[in-house]
Amino acid sequence: MKSLGPIPNGFGLIDGELAIAGVKASDHVRAAGDTPLFLYDFGLVRARVARFRAAMPADVHLHYAVKANPFPGLVRALARLVDGLDAASLGECRLIAASGGDPARASFAGPAKRDDELAGAIAMGVAINLESESEADRALAAADRLSVRPRLAVRVNPPFEIKGSGMRMGGGAKPFGVDAERAGALARRVIAAGAEWRGWHVFAGSQALAAGAVADAQAAAVALAGELSDEAGAAPPLVNLGGGFGIPYSANDRPLDVEAIGARLGEALAARASGLADSRFALELGRWLVGEAGVYLTRIVDRKESRGKLFLACDGGLHHQLAATGNLGQVVRRNYPVAIATRMGSPAEEVASIVGPLCTPLDRLADEVAVPAAHPGDLVAVFLAGAYGLTASPQAFLSQRPAIERLLVPD
Ligand SMILES: *Cc1c(COP(=O)(O)O)cnc(C)c1O
Repeated sequence: MKSLGPIPNGFGLIDGELAIAGVKASDHVRAAGDTPLFLYDFGLVRARVARFRAAMPADVHLHYAVKANPFPGLVRALARLVDGLDAASLGECRLIAASGGDPARASFAGPAKRDDELAGAIAMGVAINLESESEADRALAAADRLSVRPRLAVRVNPPFEIKGSGMRMGGGAKPFGVDAERAGALARRVIAAGAEWRGWHVFAGSQALAAGAVADAQAAAVALAGELSDEAGAAPPLVNLGGGFGIPYSANDRPLDVEAIGARLGEALAARASGLADSRFALELGRWLVGEAGVYLTRIVDRKESRGKLFLACDGGLHHQLAATGNLGQVVRRNYPVAIATRMGSPAEEVASIVGPLCTPLDRLADEVAVPAAHPGDLVAVFLAGAYGLTASPQAFLSQRPAIERLLVPD
């Protein structure tokens, strides 16, 4: 038997069933008409935003990294709560605009931005986080053709990185950002070329659960932004300190102490270089804001035994929830939090592997976990489905039925 990840807070129990936003899982499925079904509880997202605001210094803005979950209803609802939206493609820039987000408070980062993508984003007024000197040239040329003044920031490849439990020094060679040694000179050049200078973007890692490592990286980023601003000879209106806030996925993971990070960030900002006195600071978060608010519900279609092992085969799997099957960048496969949603009140009685409908051994939502006796028709809940779920999965693989998505907005 193997362990399961921790079920996040915020879910309830009604008549022995998992309740999401106060409604039983089976009632959600009835209302939506079918499985597989993604549910996003916006009440939990709102609580995350409130916790961020309470924990962080007042002048630290909150941005949402749209790629974590681009479901339009969610982006629309979040756009009203956060201070900015960060895109990773022109498609996401358009989604932001279509969702009521202000393009003037959006930024676009990512390697290999094509000329037409740069032009499209610049025309919308989205700030471009430049990934290289040559991209800077192409952005300036695109703006010239449009006869507009581009809003440009430089994404810095810092000499440090947050990783797992400790901050790693020596960030190394990256496709992302301009090496810190050259970033000041590039900023000076785009300012001289007439761009509207937007400032620095320093992204040092993702899915960190050690508050000390995140705080160290943020303090290092504040210091770096001060040095680079001296080299650039200009004050940055905005310093985007990146994000990296993680959530617990597996049994040994512990939740991030965001309040400790806020306290340390307050100290780092109080000690910042004078060149940053009037700068705004922002954190761009994806999974920490939305990951725990999502649940993926799939129905057990078959129950079978094979050579002494029990399998519960479901209508949903890795084509919708690749990350839960351990195939989105896990080195060692560990079980996500998973439960039999329709039997939450019953004790675990048997050990089963919960698999999906694809003809590949990779399609395994849970590996040898203790569960209540479950049968065809029962619903399986895969938690942590609010970030890097559907759109980070190979939905077209095997032409299975599409997933349904619903945003639940409590009053
Ligand atoms: C993906 C990404 C994020 C969001 O990362 P999370 O781990 O979801 O918080 C933030 N910033 C940049 C530049 C990214 O590429």
